[in-house]
Order: sequence, then C-alpha cells, then structure tokens
Amino acid sequence: MRLYYDFHIHSALSPCADDDMTPNNIVNMACLKGLDAIAVTDHNAAGNVRAVTRAAEGKNLIVIAGMEIETAEEVHVLSLFPSVFAAETAEAEVQARLPRLQNDSAIFGRQLLFDENDRVTAEEPRLLITAAALSIAEVFALVRRLGGLPVAAHIDRDSYSVLSNLGGIPEELGAVTVEISRAVEHPEEYLLPRPELRGCKIMRNSDAHRLGDLSERVNSVTTDGNSAADLLRAFG
Ligand SMILES: [Zn+2]
Ligand SMILES: [Zn+2]
Repeated sequence: MRLYYDFHIHSALSPCADDDMTPNNIVNMACLKGLDAIAVTDHNAAGNVRAVTRAAEGKNLIVIAGMEIETAEEVHVLSLFPSVFAAETAEAEVQARLPRLQNDSAIFGRQLLFDENDRVTAEEPRLLITAAALSIAEVFALVRRLGGLPVAAHIDRDSYSVLSNLGGIPEELGAVTVEISRAVEHPEEYLLPRPELRGCKIMRNSDAHRLGDLSERVNSVTTDGNSAADLLRAFG
C-alpha cells in the first residue's frame, strides 16, 4: 500500500516550536492535510508522543513514536521507533547524557508537556536543544538496538547535519537512510553530484515547528502493511 507521511514534526515540547503544536492540533492538521502517517520528533525528548498517539485513536492516522537526537558532534538524528515504549526507553538514555542546563523560556521558548486533551501537564525545566554526550555511532546503535530507524536528518543543511559537521557519512554506520529537507526542490539533482549517497534511502519531511508547516499529501512510501514496523521497514 502507498502511505503519505510526514515523519519530522515538532510539538510544543521543542522550545523552538509554537505553543499551539499540541497533540490534537497536530493530529487534526495531519488529517486535514490528508496524511496517513506522522511522527512526532522533539529535540532529545519523547514526552508528548504518548499523548499524540492517544489523540489519534479512532482517526485514520498512524502515529510513529519519534525523537530528534542531537549527537555529541552536533548532528541531528531523526529517530523513529516501533513503539512508544521504545521511544521512551531511548529518551531516558539520551536525557541521562544531556548537560544539566535549565531552559530559559524567555530566550528559547517554552517546553510544554500535554495530556491527550491538550491540557498542559508540566513544563520541562531542562534545556532540550543541546548535544547529548553520545557519538553518532552510539546514537545509531541505541536506536537500532530498540528496533528503531535512525535517519541522518536534513543532510542538505549547513549546520546540525552529518554532511556539514562530519563531511560525509561515517562508514561504521552501515546503510543509512537520509532526510533531504524541503528546501531542496529536486532531490535527484541534489544527489547527482554526490555518488557517495547513491544507495541511501531518501526520506522527505516537513520539520514543522508550526501547524501550517506540516507536509501536504506529497511524500509517500510503499509498504507491506500499516503498522509502525511496516513503515520503518520500508525505509530501513
Ligand atoms: Zn534538526
Ligand atoms: Zn527538527
């Protein structure tokens, strides 16, 4: 089956995202846009994943549990998991390796946690947009150990990407799925002068920080079924 997806969406737990990126707003916007599957991927956190999953119950929308992990090399790794439990397990390991810095919400924005009815249950006090003390190889290993799919995020960007920060994809990572941001209109043209990326699976997402920025029904993947595992396998 062919499923239209957007696997890189920030909720209001990411300080840089709008405060109205609540579970129900994200789910309803995804349905309005005609998406079949989404992932919520906050910076080094999965605290709203369960609420978004619950908000989508009874709707025609698959929610993948995710997180955008920042490695010690300041490379962003989009991490998609087969279950909320796996994402929460990864979150605990990542957060144990974050520096103990307080979020200054006046500078960075608020980090809001919600229940499935969009009620704010807490504000995360610790700054989430910072690098964890885990190398990119350690992050890939952690995500894969939990049955997840690590994706080299927005490789075309000048910062926080594996190409900008490391100059290429480290061989030790094995086969890597790469995300090309929507700033690139024609991914084929982007890939043409980069033979080292030949063979990589390509993912396109919105990296939305505000509701209107969720993807339209444009990026699709062909899968064997509609479970999270089926979707991850299609990109793995
Ligand atoms: Zn990023
Ligand atoms: Zn992002």
